[in-house]
Amino acid sequence: MIQIEKLKKVFKTTQGSLHAVDGVNLKVDEGTIFGIIGYSGAGKSTLIRLLNGLERPTSGDIFVAGRNMRKVQGDELRKARQEISMIFQHFNLLWSRTVRENILFPLEVAKVRTDEKEKRVSELIKLVGLDGREDAYPSQLSGGQKQRVGIARALANNPKVLLCDEATSALDPKTTDSILELLTDINEKLGLTIILITHEMHVIHKICDQVAVMEEGKFVEQGNVIEVFQQPKKDITKHFVKQVM
Ligand code: ATP
Ligand code: MG
Repeated sequence: MIQIEKLKKVFKTTQGSLHAVDGVNLKVDEGTIFGIIGYSGAGKSTLIRLLNGLERPTSGDIFVAGRNMRKVQGDELRKARQEISMIFQHFNLLWSRTVRENILFPLEVAKVRTDEKEKRVSELIKLVGLDGREDAYPSQLSGGQKQRVGIARALANNPKVLLCDEATSALDPKTTDSILELLTDINEKLGLTIILITHEMHVIHKICDQVAVMEEGKFVEQGNVIEVFQQPKKDITKHFVKQVM
């Protein structure tokens, strides 16, 4: 489903070259929940921005659902972005629009037929558990409810992959758990592949099948979550594992 080979992203800064992603290899099977954990500045967001074409690699290749993300352009890139959806720490909602209008928006962009749009919005609202809040504005919702809108909007055009960039970092522990349960539910119901980046090992422990530990642009350890928890090899991984003990 997702294959990354020798991926590099170098930013030119006033201090010189910054290797934000520095030779990452990754394979994610369809339907997996894959977690990437690392401290601030490790390169996590850059990596997932490369995955959906928001950033271009300096070198290396990224294949998502058979597409080479390094080469896609124009209409093909727009189509790829519908298939690789994303949710964010601060939700990135349209604040002057209601819940239903926020969810309608990607369907309008994709020029979905009117009757189909309505049906789809109702399905999505039900899926994320926002029945009765259709006409509320984001400012009238709790953090967890805002992220539910973000998830519904991200799922509107039936993506194959959902990228989550610190999607629960702005939420309290209980709300975090409810959003993680929703993501597991979506993964099971829709068979969606999820890539989740976080600096909280609890999040990885709760829902991920596989995990990679990222440090200074590199994957320093990766594997099955249970195995990594039982036998962390690197000091950084041991630190993260301790968070949950
Ligand atoms: P956080 O947990 O704080 O979100 P992160 O792991 O997501 O961190 P990135 O945002 O990917 O880290 O950043 C990795 C490195 O690349 C950082 O040193 C950052 O300053 C740098 N960087 C990211 N984007 C750019 C850019 N557009 N131009 C220059 N440097 C950048
Ligand atoms: Mg980040």
